[in-house]
Amino acid sequence: MTEIPAKARVVIIGGGISGCSVAYHLARLGWTDIVLLERKQLTSGTTWHAAGLIGQLRASQNMTRLAKYSADLYAKLEAETGLATGFRQCGSITVALTEERREEILRQAALARAFGVEVNELSPAEVLARYPHLNIADVVAGVHLPGDGQADPGNIALALAKGARTRGAKILEQVKVTRITTAGGTVTGVDWEAQGDKGHIACDLVVNCGGMWGRDLAAQNDVTLPLHACEHFYIVTENIPGLAQLPVLRVPDECAYYKEDAGKILLGAFEPKAKPWGMGGIPEDFCFDQLPEDIAHFEPILEKAISRMPILHSAGIHTFFNGPESFTPDDRYYLGEAPNLRGYWVAAGYNSIGIVSSGGAGMALAQWMNDGEAPFDLWEVDIRRAQPFQRNRRYLKERVSETLGLLYADHFPYRQMETSRGVRRSPLHDHLKARGAVFGEVAGWERANWFATHGQEREYRLSWKRQNWFANQCTEHMALRTGVGLLDMSSFGKIRVEGRDAAAFLQRLCANDVDVPAGRIVYTQMLNARGGIESDLTVTRLSETAFFLVVPGATLQRDLVWLRKHLADAFVTITDVTAAEAVLPLMGPRARDLLRRISPDDLSNAAHPFGTAREIEIGLGLARAHRVSYVGELGWELYVSADQAAHVFETLVTAGAEVGLKLCGLHAMDSCRIEKAYRHFGHDITDEDHVLEAGLGFAVKTEKGDFIGRESVLRKRESGLSRRMVQFRLRDPEPLLFHNEPILRDGKIVGQLTSGNYGHALGGAIGLGYVPCRPDETAAELLAAHYTIDVAGRIFEAEASLAPLYDPQSTRVRA
Ligand SMILES: Cc1cc2nc3c(=O)[nH]c(=O)nc-3n(C[C@H](O)[C@H](O)[C@H](O)COP(=O)(O)OP(=O)(O)OC[C@H]3O[C@@H](n4cnc5c(N)ncnc54)[C@H](O)[C@@H]3O)c2cc1C
Repeated sequence: MTEIPAKARVVIIGGGISGCSVAYHLARLGWTDIVLLERKQLTSGTTWHAAGLIGQLRASQNMTRLAKYSADLYAKLEAETGLATGFRQCGSITVALTEERREEILRQAALARAFGVEVNELSPAEVLARYPHLNIADVVAGVHLPGDGQADPGNIALALAKGARTRGAKILEQVKVTRITTAGGTVTGVDWEAQGDKGHIACDLVVNCGGMWGRDLAAQNDVTLPLHACEHFYIVTENIPGLAQLPVLRVPDECAYYKEDAGKILLGAFEPKAKPWGMGGIPEDFCFDQLPEDIAHFEPILEKAISRMPILHSAGIHTFFNGPESFTPDDRYYLGEAPNLRGYWVAAGYNSIGIVSSGGAGMALAQWMNDGEAPFDLWEVDIRRAQPFQRNRRYLKERVSETLGLLYADHFPYRQMETSRGVRRSPLHDHLKARGAVFGEVAGWERANWFATHGQEREYRLSWKRQNWFANQCTEHMALRTGVGLLDMSSFGKIRVEGRDAAAFLQRLCANDVDVPAGRIVYTQMLNARGGIESDLTVTRLSETAFFLVVPGATLQRDLVWLRKHLADAFVTITDVTAAEAVLPLMGPRARDLLRRISPDDLSNAAHPFGTAREIEIGLGLARAHRVSYVGELGWELYVSADQAAHVFETLVTAGAEVGLKLCGLHAMDSCRIEKAYRHFGHDITDEDHVLEAGLGFAVKTEKGDFIGRESVLRKRESGLSRRMVQFRLRDPEPLLFHNEPILRDGKIVGQLTSGNYGHALGGAIGLGYVPCRPDETAAELLAAHYTIDVAGRIFEAEASLAPLYDPQSTRVRA
């Protein structure tokens, strides 16, 4: 044990592919004093038994960028390290057995074109030509990605470890980390144990790459790392004579993937109801272990596979493999620094795509640790999206039984999780349910997405076409536009920032001027040094020393971290008060008319103008009425203390009967906001999108003095924009936009939509997306181009605009 150092710059915990990749990439950045500790042997957790599929196309541009990076890296590793990784660029084919799946894979093909991934659309006959063993009787279409491949996962990890060692990293096996020590909210080191010996390494940084052990290890330090192991199955056949090299094949409608390897077929499954494993913790002695066979569980997949691939009928089964892998509540992995412990980094929870993901993830995490900020938008996989309640193990166990199968389920838009629901509810939940609400879930919050009419089934009928709630959304949307609608947005994150230095502190973080009189509401962004958007929020000044911040429910943890990270020695307290208040947006041209019936307060423009907040009486209770709107109409967001929420709601609904009040869901809110081109954080605006290019320059006040990102704003003003956020409306009212559809300028793909929905008032699908431009290009030149949008391979004409197509002067919100 003499080789275990007493000090290191970073200790990486876990010698699977994730830890080896992080070590390799930190070493490549020139870091020295890297130590990786593995409790048993390298790859002995999940990595050694992976199937080794390397597919490049993922659901977003940056995830695809990372997967492509992995594929490129694995192709080069052998030359660099001398260790063969078995990487073979054999291509992959995905086939559709239904019309809905056809639409999905054609949309994926369009996405691949937008991301620069080579792709071919195949007819059933062309599928057969490339995969002669397939029964194509019911195949309706296929997509071929020639750049995809397969590799030997264990050897990739070992090659990465070798590459790291060559650059000076210490990689030690049979050393278990027993505890991460901390002081004052910062990591100070790790305690280890090895063959009876014990010791300590002092370090400022640790990276938890502990795979399925990672959750319990993180919990020791109150770090939320929500993952749970599930059993994952494949079989390998005996040698099949005459089997030539084949591409990887995915038949998602039968939950199956096929890989040809050395004359055998590996058949793996993502069955709809998976088997969680390791409920009592992962066994201490687990090392290259397998789990017991479960033929009965696998049989339905095998039966379909034999009919799909008749050669399997006579091939004997050589191996029945069952191995555990970590799954997460949303099927996305975790990267980044824990929100509540400085120096505690994470790269874990890979949902059965850890081999293809780890190359890119290791690169991105190393860069992030090196620079102190993510190299590009990684919000999808950011650890800060994890909610503290997700530490609950029953929640995780039930959820992962569903998420494994969702990998191959139809990826319909608006799909809602079925398991582990109902954890976080608004005080109005039962009131809404009694009135027909159909709920969706975000960050654990149950939110009314739409309201069923009397007798209508309260279920989603999922499709790529108009779903069963389209007409409900239309009615709710038009009520907001022409009458009055009431929403429940209690899931908004609410943060109080208070204290002697609160104003100065927020002035430094916000790009807009928030040093305003009490009662004023300011829409603003918090920027990073690159001018990218870290947070999108409203700041309401409550008093000289108190501010109230409203952020999206999904970004609350992230926003709290950003605030706390910049606190230094400011005399300020930051409190999450999300659960303390319900939020009832009352929106539409008749909102004032309704409020006047139940409130004695003066709601005129003179007394309560747009952008101000005041306490008002409603019925027998009180609300803080914020005159703002995310739907683009006259209205107030009513912030009501949780105990009075039901009373205020009932008062509104009773009086609302006289003016045609309609309860509205989140789907209508989203379709209204996109007509107004209001940006949505995480889609339209992220930390890599410059605030000026996002078209939010109106909310930036460089003249107020210094703030984070100001220099970048000044530089961008000087150098000009290289892309601009544009709103599109399809001229054909039929097709639907969701997001990710390629944007074509004069026939050439220039980007993809960042969000999409239907503009019921504008009469067509609406999308937002960035279009590259020359710095000196005028708005008129940009808009004079011919724009079309690719929807699953069909090209549709689009009207383009820089100003919102709905109410461009925003006269309605100020009415
Ligand atoms: C059947 C199957 C097929 C798969 N097929 C594919 C595929 O085709 N393509 C793909 O991309 N992915 C695939 N995967 C997924 C992939 O194998 C995993 O995502 C990946 O291996 C996870 O790597 P990891 O490093 O996060 O975890 P692991 O490989 O489990 O590594 C974690 C390591 O941490 C160590 N450790 C834990 N706690 C401590 C501690 N306290 N101190 C020291 N060390 C510790 C463990 O011993 C372990 O070695 C498959 C998975 C399965 C089960």
